[in-house]
Amino acid sequence: MQVYLSSLGCRLNEAELQTWAQSFQNIGYSLVNQVDNADLAIFNSCAVTSEAARKSRQMIRKFHRINPRARLVVTGCYASLEPQELEKIMGVDLVIDNSDKDILIDRVKDILDVPVMPEFATEPGESPLFSRNRERAFIKIQDGCRYRCTYCIVTVARGEERSRSIDSLIEEINQLHQAGVLEIVLAGVHVGGYGSDIGSSLYQLVETILDKTEIPRIRFASVEPWDLGESFFELFKNPRLMPHMHLPLQSGADSVLKRMSRRCKTETFAELVQEARSHVPNFNVTTDVIVGFPGETDAEFQETLDFVASQPFGHIHIFSYSDRAGTKAARLLNKVTKDIKKERSRSLHQLAATLKCQQLAEQVGTSVEILWESSSQELVNGKHRYFGYTPNYHKVQLDLPAQYSIERKIIATQLVAVSEDNLLVGKISKDTLEHFIKNNRINIQQL
Ligand code: SF4
Repeated sequence: MQVYLSSLGCRLNEAELQTWAQSFQNIGYSLVNQVDNADLAIFNSCAVTSEAARKSRQMIRKFHRINPRARLVVTGCYASLEPQELEKIMGVDLVIDNSDKDILIDRVKDILDVPVMPEFATEPGESPLFSRNRERAFIKIQDGCRYRCTYCIVTVARGEERSRSIDSLIEEINQLHQAGVLEIVLAGVHVGGYGSDIGSSLYQLVETILDKTEIPRIRFASVEPWDLGESFFELFKNPRLMPHMHLPLQSGADSVLKRMSRRCKTETFAELVQEARSHVPNFNVTTDVIVGFPGETDAEFQETLDFVASQPFGHIHIFSYSDRAGTKAARLLNKVTKDIKKERSRSLHQLAATLKCQQLAEQVGTSVEILWESSSQELVNGKHRYFGYTPNYHKVQLDLPAQYSIERKIIATQLVAVSEDNLLVGKISKDTLEHFIKNNRINIQQL
């Protein structure tokens, strides 16, 4: 039985795909990376914006067009918000709500009556591993959110907070590390809310991961800038916890944050960034900002520019507000025109680029451990170009003679420059290279 798994949207959707992949392999299914030859296709949809919902419908139709023979199962936020719409789309055999994701495999087995083949089962943790790249894995630690930001449909689609047990997470992380994963990304809807329903906390989870696993690098996916707890940033003393957090700000004007029902004012946000950097000086904070939220005045937008300019952001994702049916914000008056949104997005992009250059310049001259991931296939002057990320999540490139392969290696690298397209340029010292070669920790290819 061949299964094709695909998702749209957030890291959480991606992490769920990985968990289902392991479960399907445990019951003897094999994974295919094209829908063409699949017997069963699972699509984890997204509906965070109307555009994402449109793309979800488009992908579902495409899967059925390419392979009408495959049983097609759709889950995710679009399935939870518009199940009736979904059932009308040709080829959809089963719609599974977000709240049933933990029992998706059983539902598929029972309802679609698909066979179970234990004889082909892979041992838990046995490769082949299913993840976009094989050195990093996304781990779903919790689902749902108790808050009601006025523009957010995710809290509607994903329901109340539900945390996975620390034991099950430790077991999964150790299995993934055994299978060769070197970096994990802890993902959820409200990551800071981890443990609220099981008498635990994000602090306790991270502390236990640091204690009961040997995974070299631990990261967070997007984390709302509240509910992190008093001494949260103490944890970053441990070098295995990567000094970067993506903390969505959304606006730099407290009056706009109030209309968004956000739980973090600009002053508190600034204190959080400061506290992070008091523990790790080059701690990198990246963020999201929505421009053109209903009622946003020129003065409020200027407040956003001023506040953003005062923070050391390494990268800013900028979104132009769009109504999402089913949210409170969609019913707010004084919508901002398209042209004004465009103009505000343009000036914020400019500021974001300046801040990014400043952050990158601060990294030059330092030496850090990089997890080298992929490399370019084609040779440039007899060299492959490798890509990886610094611990504080800045992208780095490095050119290396073709006979060396450093994919999926963590190597001390000097950061020597910033490239034209805003990537850091890395250099591995001759000594480090020779040390790695001597200890067979680098593959030498016969050319
Ligand atoms: S905290 Fe995040 S997930 Fe929760 S309602 Fe607000 S934006 Fe949505």
